[in-house]
Formats: sequence, structure tokens, C-alpha cells
Amino acid sequence: MTNNTKKEELHFSFDRRLYVLDLFFDPKFPIQEVKDCIEKSVKLNSKFFKFSNQIIPKFEIELVYSREEFSSKLNRETASWESGYCSNNHFIIFHPDFFESETTHRREDFGKTLTHEIAHIFIESINSKFLWWVSEGVAQYVAKQANYTGTNNLDNCIR
Ligand SMILES: [Zn+2]
Repeated sequence: MTNNTKKEELHFSFDRRLYVLDLFFDPKFPIQEVKDCIEKSVKLNSKFFKFSNQIIPKFEIELVYSREEFSSKLNRETASWESGYCSNNHFIIFHPDFFESETTHRREDFGKTLTHEIAHIFIESINSKFLWWVSEGVAQYVAKQANYTGTNNLDNCIR
């Protein structure tokens, strides 16, 4: 995190549950769209994982603005398709304005990637011993990243 990094605590309440997270961002770039997407993503995950009565611990979302910054946070070279990374209750994701220039994804994929990473936090709190491919499959399903429906889903953000 740089000296410019700001932290804001966000609270959402869905399905009679409270979700709390810290968002780390550079105030030089617009943030409202990101907050709206986070709200939608948490709502979608809350609905999907309603069957579980596990408390979701407070988590952190950190925005990055360049490939170099992303790689340095992960302490390794990262591939251009990598757009988010989740570890414990913290995840790193590219700001939507940098999605197309810094990753191979489209800007519209920001919302799905966000939902995918938040799903990992829910999955982890329910059962941290899931096989990685089960966890990946569930996260992709919640984020509607699976392609097997044959429909071309071009939604801007998650519903
Ligand atoms: Zn994943």
C-alpha cells in the first residue's frame, strides 16, 4: 500500500446478516462504481450461501492500479490473465478502470471477478477444507462465469 492509500469501512445488511469489510483504494480514481459492485456481489453471495449459518468474518478488499503493483504484492511475476487474488480474508483486485489495460479481461468482467473472490471468502468460512477445484467451481458458479448455459451473458455487473 502506498502513502496515498485510503481505507474505508463498508457495512451491508442482507438476509438479516451484517457484513463488514475494509476497502483500500487510491482516492485519485473514482470509487463509487466499485462500492456499488461490492454491494451487489455481497448481496449475491449472501443469497447463494443463505443455507449456511456461519458468520462471515470481516474481510478486506484492496484495489491495485498496475500489473507491477499486483506482482509486487504477490511477490512473484503474475500472468496477464490474473485479475484478482484471494488469501484468507483479504483479496486484491484491479480497479475497473485498469481492467482492460492491465489484464486480458474486459472491463465488464470486474463485477464477476469481484463476486468470484467474495465467494471464496464465504466458502472458506463455511469449510476451509474444500478441494480447491470444488471451491473454484462454486466460485465460478456464483459469479456466473460458467459457460455451459450456452447463453452469451454480457451483463455489465452482477445482478
Ligand atoms: Zn477462484
